[in-house]
Amino acid sequence: MVLIPARMSEAEERRWVGVMLDKLAAQESRSVLGDRELTERALRLSEQYFDGRARPGSVRWVTNQNTRWGSCTPSEGSIRLSHRLQGMPEYVVDYVLLHELAHLLVPGHGPRFWRLLEAYPRTERARGYLEGVVAAGRLPHLTGAAEE
Ligand SMILES: [Zn+2]
Repeated sequence: MVLIPARMSEAEERRWVGVMLDKLAAQESRSVLGDRELTERALRLSEQYFDGRARPGSVRWVTNQNTRWGSCTPSEGSIRLSHRLQGMPEYVVDYVLLHELAHLLVPGHGPRFWRLLEAYPRTERARGYLEGVVAAGRLPHLTGAAEE
């Protein structure tokens, strides 16, 4: 429940709610998931957004991935997330998970791929967040599937 101060314009209100939600998300999210929880999370996300069609065999953190946020090997159903995502808001980690899950269904970044990700309401926001991190020069490039 969010208490909204009186006499805010609608635009102010939306902005304020956005800020509050970010704060809440940040508080909730900074716990580090283990590989097992990460796999369970990926399964739940697949269920929720892709009708369970993406079935990852394994999902794990890796520390050797400096130019990508995530990668996957569709033939094995394996997904790897950069440990650099640890400590970022939950919705950002969820986005990267969904991105890699989507690659289990659709290779490459064509229209079919992005249509899948439209199901997740925070795709644009998460991409903006990651781009901001890259622009700040602290972290690696874009998310990409390992085209292995
Ligand atoms: Zn990709």
